[in-house]
Amino acid sequence: MVSGKNACTYPNCMNNSKSHGLCWTHGKKCKLEGCNKTSLSQGLCWAHGGGKRCVVEGCSRTAYARNANRCDYHRNFPGSSGLDIGA
Ligand SMILES: [Zn+2]
Ligand SMILES: [Zn+2]
Ligand SMILES: [Zn+2]
Repeated sequence: MVSGKNACTYPNCMNNSKSHGLCWTHGKKCKLEGCNKTSLSQGLCWAHGGGKRCVVEGCSRTAYARNANRCDYHRNFPGSSGLDIGA
């Protein structure tokens, strides 16, 4: 079957490929043994250290480049270190 020009090459997968001939689901997996989550960066899924984290100490929310590597919650937070963010 040669229908889609960018189909995932994974057996029985009908998704469009995102990169390297594989779809998002099959393209990159967390390199940690036993973890099947999609890797975000450095070959790791978000739960294992992939992706960006908020730079505010003690915060583990997802960070965004548009927020200067802070989460939405801390996007307008002043300063960058020694913060007392409380509970
Ligand atoms: Zn696939
Ligand atoms: Zn993982
Ligand atoms: Zn944060």
